[in-house]
Amino acid sequence: QLYNEVIELKGNIRVFCRCRPLNQNEIANGYKSVIEFDSSVENELHVICSDSTKKQFKFDHVFRPEDNQEAVFAQTKPIVTSVLDGYNVCIFAYGQTGTGKTFTMEGTQEKRGVNYRTVEELFRVSEERGGAVRYELFVSMLEVYNEKIRDLLVENGNQQAKKLEIKQTADGTQEVPGLVEARVFGTDDVWELLKSGSRARSVGSTSLNEMSSRSHCLLRVTVKGENLINGQRTRSHLWLVDLAGSERVGRIEVDGGDCKTLMFVQISPSSSDLGETLCSLNFASRVR
Ligand code: ADP
Ligand code: MG
Repeated sequence: QLYNEVIELKGNIRVFCRCRPLNQNEIANGYKSVIEFDSSVENELHVICSDSTKKQFKFDHVFRPEDNQEAVFAQTKPIVTSVLDGYNVCIFAYGQTGTGKTFTMEGTQEKRGVNYRTVEELFRVSEERGGAVRYELFVSMLEVYNEKIRDLLVENGNQQAKKLEIKQTADGTQEVPGLVEARVFGTDDVWELLKSGSRARSVGSTSLNEMSSRSHCLLRVTVKGENLINGQRTRSHLWLVDLAGSERVGRIEVDGGDCKTLMFVQISPSSSDLGETLCSLNFASRVR
């Protein structure tokens, strides 16, 4: 069942495309890759359409099936650290279910994704700047499903009776009154929180995959900075969003404002997914 959901994102947007490898199942079924890369060009790909014509797409960067989590984060890093300079940042993964949104954002224990690496980098840089600015980091995690918001850092039985809502504030940022903000002091804290949030996400659903194809998972890192020289204080948000499967999302709106935005458009290389892949790539090309 398709539901209409509007996600509004503010601002200056960059788009990265990431193509996952063909999986065992696709190979066993004889499906072929319909995505071609040019060895010398890092921001283009071609889709081989069913009539054998090729359609070209250009993004700010294109990651190929063989590119690992380190390679992805190397390109992402400069955007995430701008939250320490007081910018609001939003990074989200968009694409059909099974194309690697969760792999890119969450990753696995061995192949950690953008979420963990981001916080790790924020701790690293804030330590580096420790003599001039004192930073405090807080993490919140929520799930949006059927327009309802669930706090993933609250024990399942203890969800507030009061409904959580995302509120637009005067300065153009988003607030969720009542949402848990957990202070984090190091990367170990963060990994534990991310794991517990992820577990909370699956509770009550028959299958995590089914649930995650229908719901958005949002991680918010709040950075509070205090300049030790002039006393100036900043507070900014970094949103890391694993969207519901694009085949389920009615529409997404991206609009101008005070936030640095990075979108990962995730695609499958398989000939069996050609239609959805073209939809996602066309959408992502219009966003820029
Ligand atoms: P989504 O969240 O978009 O539904 P997943 O992140 O769950 O997709 O990915 C589906 C499967 O493909 C998972 O088993 C994941 O580990 C694997 N996968 C996705 N992207 C990659 C990649 N770049 N390299 C290796 N495996 C990947
Ligand atoms: Mg997922």
